[in-house]
Amino acid sequence: MSEEKKIPYKIYLEEQEMPTSWYNVRADMKNKPAPLMNPGTHQPLTKEELAPIFCEELVDQELNDTDAYIEIPEEIRNFYKMYRPSPLVRAYCLEEKLGTPAKIYYKFEGNNTSGSHKLNSAIAQAYYAKKQGLKGVTTETGAGQWGTALSMACSYFDLDCKVYMVKVSYEQKPFRREVMRTYGATVTPSPSMTTEIGKKILAEHPGTTGSLGCAISEAVEVATQNEGYRYVLGSVLNQVLLHQSIIGLETKAALDKYGIDPDIIIGCAGGGSNLGGLIAPFMGEKLRGEKDYRIIAVEPASCPSFTRGVFAYDFCDTGMICPLAKMYTLGSSFIPSANHAGGLRFHGMSTTLSQLYHDGLMEATAVEQTAVFEAAEQFARIEGILPAPESSHAIRVAIDEALKCKETGEEKTIVFGLTGTGYFDMVAYERFHDGEMTDYIPTDEDLAKGFAGIPKFPGNEF
Ligand SMILES: *Cc1c(COP(=O)(O)O)cnc(C)c1O
Repeated sequence: MSEEKKIPYKIYLEEQEMPTSWYNVRADMKNKPAPLMNPGTHQPLTKEELAPIFCEELVDQELNDTDAYIEIPEEIRNFYKMYRPSPLVRAYCLEEKLGTPAKIYYKFEGNNTSGSHKLNSAIAQAYYAKKQGLKGVTTETGAGQWGTALSMACSYFDLDCKVYMVKVSYEQKPFRREVMRTYGATVTPSPSMTTEIGKKILAEHPGTTGSLGCAISEAVEVATQNEGYRYVLGSVLNQVLLHQSIIGLETKAALDKYGIDPDIIIGCAGGGSNLGGLIAPFMGEKLRGEKDYRIIAVEPASCPSFTRGVFAYDFCDTGMICPLAKMYTLGSSFIPSANHAGGLRFHGMSTTLSQLYHDGLMEATAVEQTAVFEAAEQFARIEGILPAPESSHAIRVAIDEALKCKETGEEKTIVFGLTGTGYFDMVAYERFHDGEMTDYIPTDEDLAKGFAGIPKFPGNEF
């Protein structure tokens, strides 16, 4: 116990201890994630095919399965220094309140204006776009964190930023929109009449409140139709997981400083970028046979890609214009029930995490949103931070695991990713407080409809 007391509430790294390279977990994977596929030819996408959509260096990163370390350019490291390292917090107060012998740590990524980890990749993607001499970038945003992060990054590098925001969020979160406009971005509710695909979706589903899949289709269309623009994505892609490895590398460096070895690492999973980043160096050790950890992905029961999806090639977007990715998916036409408030709405999952999960190297669990908001509120009251609903999925499972330790008396060390703050999610909190929040778990029939839309071709049986 006296030993324990030496661990501070917050473990920070010194500037000179910050990582200078990102870690690419694919280099250590025996079974590499399946490559992105051309939906027309069913052949792996080449650099040439990806170049009209994505920035050149990001394409290289996307396709790089061999280099374990990729240097972080100095310009990006300098930007990171403005808001990083992020603290690794020992949740002493939460442990005490729960009466658990478990030791709980969380890596807090909400200490920047965008309020989440998304800035870690936004600044990298904006940097490479600038370096290539582009005019601007287009993207989609769901809850708004990614759009905000990208707006900040683009204004820093003086790039134009066009954001397609899922309509339901656009309406529920007008202040998010204004933050983006403060940083100079143009924000359009999606689906919109500004794109061909948006018009088509609106004709087929009048009154739809949109989905990430629709917004992606629109943003890609605008990027490919406008000279000097490329599309950027805030999650799912290998390059994004690579940039987010900064989270895991810092976490590991902070733990190593105090000789702490985690038993369980927990993160919420939407498209998989924060989780992929947090676990990267730990998964690397696991893959190389050096250490073992329990790694748990937490997803909403209303959008359960890992736990109830199928592992198959599928479109990343509703408009079916994007490449195919082999991933755990609910089908690109799957849209979570309208009462779902907790983010993490994407129908698919990172190909890297999908492969790791398929190979039994990590676990996944799904939680219901009322239980998530209970955990969020409990955490806010004890640890002070008002968490994002997405992050609260990880809090839920961290608390549950700590309570299991209370029963068994095991002193496990639990690390979880607290990806962001929830100040713009007060409509969801309001519904929770007013007792209006319900849990809708899709039925097997609901899911079957989504699966029916997954492309069928030889080799893509599921
Ligand atoms: C976007 C977001 C997530 C989920 O995205 P991943 O790519 O799965 O990490 C989680 N938490 C917050 C706060 C987010 O903004």
